[in-house]
Amino acid sequence: MTARTGFGQIVSLALAFVVVSVVKGLASYAKDTTMARIGNAIIAAVQRRVFGHVLQQGIPYFSERHSTELVSSNAFISNAARAGANLVVNSVTNILTVLSLTAVMIIRDPLLAVSALVVMPGAVFGIRYITHRIRSVVRRQYASLAQIAGIIQETAQGIRVVKSFGMEDAMRRRMEDGILLAQRTANKMAELSNRTSPLMETMGGVAVAAVIVYGGWRIVEGQLTLGGLTSFLVAFLMAYAPAKALAKTNVDLSAALAGVEMYYDILDLPPTEGAAELAKPPFVNKGGHIVFDNVRFGYKADEAVLRNLSFTAEAGKTTALVGQSGGGKSTIVNMILRFYDPQSGEISIDGQPLPSVSLPTLRAAMAYVGQDVFLFAGTIRENIASGRPGATGEQIIAAAKAAHAHEFISAFEKGYETEVGERGLQLSGGQRARIAIARAILRDASIILLDEATAALDSESEKAVQNALDDLCAGRTVVVIAHRLQTVQRADKICVVEAGQVVEEGTHEALLARRGRYAHLYTVQFREEPELSHA
Ligand code: ADP
Repeated sequence: MTARTGFGQIVSLALAFVVVSVVKGLASYAKDTTMARIGNAIIAAVQRRVFGHVLQQGIPYFSERHSTELVSSNAFISNAARAGANLVVNSVTNILTVLSLTAVMIIRDPLLAVSALVVMPGAVFGIRYITHRIRSVVRRQYASLAQIAGIIQETAQGIRVVKSFGMEDAMRRRMEDGILLAQRTANKMAELSNRTSPLMETMGGVAVAAVIVYGGWRIVEGQLTLGGLTSFLVAFLMAYAPAKALAKTNVDLSAALAGVEMYYDILDLPPTEGAAELAKPPFVNKGGHIVFDNVRFGYKADEAVLRNLSFTAEAGKTTALVGQSGGGKSTIVNMILRFYDPQSGEISIDGQPLPSVSLPTLRAAMAYVGQDVFLFAGTIRENIASGRPGATGEQIIAAAKAAHAHEFISAFEKGYETEVGERGLQLSGGQRARIAIARAILRDASIILLDEATAALDSESEKAVQNALDDLCAGRTVVVIAHRLQTVQRADKICVVEAGQVVEEGTHEALLARRGRYAHLYTVQFREEPELSHA
């Protein structure tokens, strides 16, 4: 071989090394990217499933929970899914390494392999103990995270109250509790998870000692060579590092499993507004004749809020609910929307008992305008359009015009594309109310449920809102929780609701003439309103 060909071989070898390195790098890149994609797909599926399921829950589910509990549980479950996916993915190599080296040890010397395994029961028992402890800590950690999220949300939403009442220190103190709990539980988690180190080191040491003693005895007896023992120990030590990593993975995975349990806690709840509702016959809208027949209902089983309440709201007419607060007026409206079902008695619309028809079709016949107007983050156009998905631009503008909102919306620089909601433009109470009314007008529902705003609107915007409401209600079935004298006077029927019963009903004049509860309310509640002077 000449020096030249010899050098050529060296260069080929060097090139081969480069090629192998590049291929190895690319393979590792492809593996990691693919695994990350799989992990992300799992997380997306988990988030989709949880949110979809939560949306199928009825109002009681949401009333029983702090909103941040829902936000935190979603974050927690997603994190757990991510951690779980990563751990499983990263363990594949370790599992393969341990399995193949164990096979090598068993083939080389089954008896020595058995002596190395004497520590197995101790390791398994220790790991199970740690795993068990860590699960309860994870639950506490979740609670602390939910607490922190709750305080941040309350502070942000109520920042004006916090600042104006000088509540910064109080909020800081409340936060401190959450932070300390989170810190303590996180420390505890780390401590428990790291206990795998001393456990596995000890077990590894004992196993090596067992192999040396048993192997040494067999060498003395002439059944084993020193080389045989050494090669066995090398295989054992090579398997040891990945086995230790797997023990830690097992513990961390059990922490992630607490998230999986929470995932199933949510998924195991029966979807009260799920597929079963869609399977029912659709609601047939004949104008909206609403009948409450002997309805008994309480938010808690033993506290009746509506007590054998009966009344009728005629189709195409306006029925006003009046009465002192706490009487059950909002509860009646909630029940027309079927947020709750009666404990006894029946509510029907156009002759159809509410639970007998498909919920989405029932609610499609209604539009609700409440006191606290909720606008989503998005443009004014999007907020109005949420009343009827797929509405055209002209329909949206027509609804805004009918709601006496077009003028002020057009005056904004970006018009209908103006961003509103938490981070957008701050609208006045009257403007928000008119956007909500436009949303309801666009919905073109035959039943209008109205909780009249008593919010201090200036008289200009109060008049505009009143006009907008008149346009919304014209020719529809309206059930209105009335706070305004005008609404009460013009209603086709007034129901006085007290302590969960309709105690009087009739027109304004008829009820005044009776000199009963309404006449009393009228003098104490409505007469003080400035509207009396125009009435
Ligand atoms: P009104 O609208 O006439 O002021 P509501 O219907 O709001 O009366 O309330 C009637 C009663 O039901 C009150 O005692 C109130 O405390 C109670 N209540 C209302 N909403 C809930 C709820 N989500 N959970 C428990 N109790 C409630």
